[in-house]
Amino acid sequence: MEAETWVCGLLADYRGLIGEGCVGLDRERGVIAAISKSPPPGARAMDYRSRGVLVIPGLVDLHVHLRGLGYSYKETPRSGGWAAASAGITLVVDMPNTQPPSDEPGAVEAKLGELASQCPVDHGLYAGVPERPELVGGLASTPVAGFKVYPRDLASRREALQAILSLRGMLVVLHPEAPWARRGDLQESPASRESHRPCWLEAHAVLDLASLGGRARIHVTHASCPGTVEASRALGFTVDVTPHHLHWSLHTLGDPCLGKVNPPLRGHPDVWGLWRALLEGRVDALASDHAPHAEREKLGDPLACPPGFPWLELWPWLVFRLVRLGILGLREFLWLTSRGPALVLGLRHYGTLEQGARANVVVLDPKPWRRFPGPRHSLARLTPALMERLAGAPLAVLVGGDPVYVDGELAGRGRPVNPFASRARASGVRGGGDT
Ligand SMILES: [Zn+2]
Repeated sequence: MEAETWVCGLLADYRGLIGEGCVGLDRERGVIAAISKSPPPGARAMDYRSRGVLVIPGLVDLHVHLRGLGYSYKETPRSGGWAAASAGITLVVDMPNTQPPSDEPGAVEAKLGELASQCPVDHGLYAGVPERPELVGGLASTPVAGFKVYPRDLASRREALQAILSLRGMLVVLHPEAPWARRGDLQESPASRESHRPCWLEAHAVLDLASLGGRARIHVTHASCPGTVEASRALGFTVDVTPHHLHWSLHTLGDPCLGKVNPPLRGHPDVWGLWRALLEGRVDALASDHAPHAEREKLGDPLACPPGFPWLELWPWLVFRLVRLGILGLREFLWLTSRGPALVLGLRHYGTLEQGARANVVVLDPKPWRRFPGPRHSLARLTPALMERLAGAPLAVLVGGDPVYVDGELAGRGRPVNPFASRARASGVRGGGDT
């Protein structure tokens, strides 16, 4: 390994502040080749030492919707990928409710091809549960991160689901809502949606999946209720929460379309319980569930407007406010946004500043307070987070050792990878093995 680019500042990762020094990046292999006090004489260095600037691992978002293909009017891997890069997120994993759905091998290959050709950051894709169980083997042999289970799958695709759960080590990500939660047939204010999709339906879905047994690794995503976090942990599953279920309640974001998300925003006691679970270290990761839609869709009929928030350009820095306010430690922040999600995905070489780790690095100025002026890269322009106060600002973002975002501007696409492809080649294990 040979370091060609050096990035210097206050090094920090999930272990906390490491100290002032430099990471040497091997761009050819896309890994951290060396850690040192200072760069070798004459070396190419981005030197931020003595400026109070942090050098941290790139952030990981294990639940995004980059749309593309038939939904390219909502978002594309290019626009969503640049939104991620601008926020210091250097690995995103895309969901399979695409058009066409990524639940058969041909559609998965098409979606992976689109991601590879457009996305400027490292990327992965979950496969959907197929209608026909005989497709499970073919899907599992594609380089996917794992499978995503929707409420519908718990009701009508149980045979295929059972085949997936039988795959040892396969990552299975659950959307925890019972299939019979009422949807779309009510005048859906956030309060009415919350009362018709209550917390116990979330826990029920977790227990239902657990009842199927198997040898897969289960991850419960966007838990919106403290009971879901506890049930997941009790069953040995990993669990993430979203920034929006922490940041808003059904009382603070009452707009029927802007505040519409699945699972719904909750009342204050559940929001407080979720906070407690997060701050007491019982949550494995934060994940955005970035779900972009066209303005005309979100501004439409509250009975028909699609659920979801666009988040990729800002969510880590909304959370970083907690670090600035002394509520959350830097170490815990970096666990929740980088190392934790990497381990959920089975990627030990992500989310850490160690020799041999993936050379995804963010230079972060932790000092500024700023307002979110609206999306610059995402196609989803309509966001309830407009003018939200954010803390910290990424100064430079590197993917595989290549600068992709510097001083607020795109710096080039670099050489992003699908880490699940190299893992599949290396080990023959997919969707939950280790490297
Ligand atoms: Zn989602």
